[in-house]
Amino acid sequence: MLYFGAVCVLGDFQMNLDLTKLLAGSTNSLDFEFRLTQEDCEQLAQDFPQTKFDYPIVLSGNVSTCGDGTYDVNYSSVVGFSEPCARCAGPAHAVLNIHIENKAIRGNKSEESEDYLFVKNKEIDVVSPFFEQIVLEYPQYGILCKEDCKGLCPVCGIDLNKKSCNCRAKTVDPRLAKLSELLKQ
Ligand SMILES: [Zn+2]
Ligand SMILES: [Zn+2]
Repeated sequence: MLYFGAVCVLGDFQMNLDLTKLLAGSTNSLDFEFRLTQEDCEQLAQDFPQTKFDYPIVLSGNVSTCGDGTYDVNYSSVVGFSEPCARCAGPAHAVLNIHIENKAIRGNKSEESEDYLFVKNKEIDVVSPFFEQIVLEYPQYGILCKEDCKGLCPVCGIDLNKKSCNCRAKTVDPRLAKLSELLKQ
């Protein structure tokens, strides 16, 4: 992983954001950018074994001093990924727009502060909250290859995007059958 901008530690493969300059007061605001490679994201591979994420995953954002001992941490990422279409099982691609707005504080974790990020050894971990956010926002019911994907025929299994079949004509929905009887009367 590389990150640059106001903080520059090219070649350093740590997963944390270095806040040394901010804590020393030599600046009030730091821009940052992380480029996560596939190796950096082993956790995603574990959480989503069926999914292929597009790499690198770029996190970019800013940390600023609030003056009351807290730091505002805002960052975002557009995460592209592929998995089989939920209807036809063909290839499908989608994008997650992840935004994280958080506060970081120094000190130790306590009950009141469990939503905060913690400054530890002059660094904060911005990658773990990002992975957690992907888990929260990942589409639970899968994604589609296209909005109007017709899916597979439940009877004969052909891909209705490519071919048609007569199964639907043969198996009339019993509710519709009743309705057409009523209409005839
Ligand atoms: Zn599909
Ligand atoms: Zn069919």
